[in-house]
Amino acid sequence: MVQLGAMPGKDGFFGEYGGQIIPPPLIEIMNQINDAYDEVSATSAFQDELNDLLVHYVGRPSPIFYSKRLSDKIGGARIYLKREDLNHTGAHKINHCLGEALLAKHMGKTKVLAETGAGQHGVALATACALVGIECEIHMGEIDIEKEHPNVTKMKILGAKLVPVGRGTRTLKDAVDSAFEEYLKDPVNSFYAIGSVVGPHPFPKMVRDFQMVVGYEARIQFQEMEGKLPDMVTACVGGGSNAIGLFTAFMDDEDVEMVGVEPAGKGLDTPDHAATLTLGVKGAIHGFKCYNLQDKDGEPLPVYSIASGLDYPGVGPQHCYLKDMKRVRYESVDDAGCLDAFMTLSQVEGIIPALESAHAVAFAMSEAAKMGSDKTILVNLSGRGDKDADFVADKLGL
Ligand SMILES: *Cc1c(COP(=O)(O)O)cnc(C)c1O
Repeated sequence: MVQLGAMPGKDGFFGEYGGQIIPPPLIEIMNQINDAYDEVSATSAFQDELNDLLVHYVGRPSPIFYSKRLSDKIGGARIYLKREDLNHTGAHKINHCLGEALLAKHMGKTKVLAETGAGQHGVALATACALVGIECEIHMGEIDIEKEHPNVTKMKILGAKLVPVGRGTRTLKDAVDSAFEEYLKDPVNSFYAIGSVVGPHPFPKMVRDFQMVVGYEARIQFQEMEGKLPDMVTACVGGGSNAIGLFTAFMDDEDVEMVGVEPAGKGLDTPDHAATLTLGVKGAIHGFKCYNLQDKDGEPLPVYSIASGLDYPGVGPQHCYLKDMKRVRYESVDDAGCLDAFMTLSQVEGIIPALESAHAVAFAMSEAAKMGSDKTILVNLSGRGDKDADFVADKLGL
């Protein structure tokens, strides 16, 4: 049997997906990062420092909560939540940002660079860099800067240098180009920190490895709580980092069904969604091959989700492979379903989920109703919804 969790191979492919679709000089730089990662991450100095921070700084292990009132309300399978929302900074992103910042430091880099869309990756990275003591530079489109004021302010307070990007669409797409150009000026001393399991090899592998802690904790915790594994595990999928972080530990447990949940936005029959695995075609984007949403010229389509952390036109290559292998099922939830789950979880459990995570909660709610009360579903609650509270209140006229 293929060890699904042990992928990718040396070439960075998960089946036909992933790889390094970038100019040869860049391939060389990426391979250097890969070699350094393999070497540094195997040392006990690196592992001990990261583990110590995950425990004492992030607050790991995050608990699993049996969502009894929600389960009772639905009347079917029991729903459990892996509480990544309780991490320092309020989401799973701190897991890989700490890994990346620490790796940069151990590699002797002096600066960490990244782009950010809604600002969640920027804030998590700025936090990790402040802690590790390394310079941080975040590129962000001018339109996003206007829209995401609280995150912009946080990045500044945390000491990051914010570079506004005024070219092209003035959003994430151009921020990626801008940050990457800056990185290429000095790849020897700087480190490019990608925010999900996307981009050229070795990023899908590295970010996955830093997120695997979620699933390994959850697998042990769930067994201790229930004396068995969950019947189903589920998580929302933007680029796919929180989902792969949960799934990896269960990859070889054939009886555990795994479901990734994409944003169906205003509907799969409209252009306003980001259901990459559900409706995408195979192609290259941002330096790697995956399912993606593109126009007939192969350019990435504008995508939409009520949860800005999920609107990416591509998706991690490992998810594409797992879809083709039928090891993971990919479903979608629309804005209305997401909002309903957001309000329901808030009001029956006192837990305000991130809109991203609410997609997975919504899926679990509809699936639980179809399952018997002897069955269990574990949801990765990837983040908390403080950042979304005003938006939802506006939207629902609260
Ligand atoms: C960024 C984000 C996501 C989406 O990213 P993945 O790489 O797909 O996990 C999901 N949930 C929250 C709370 C986020 O901040």
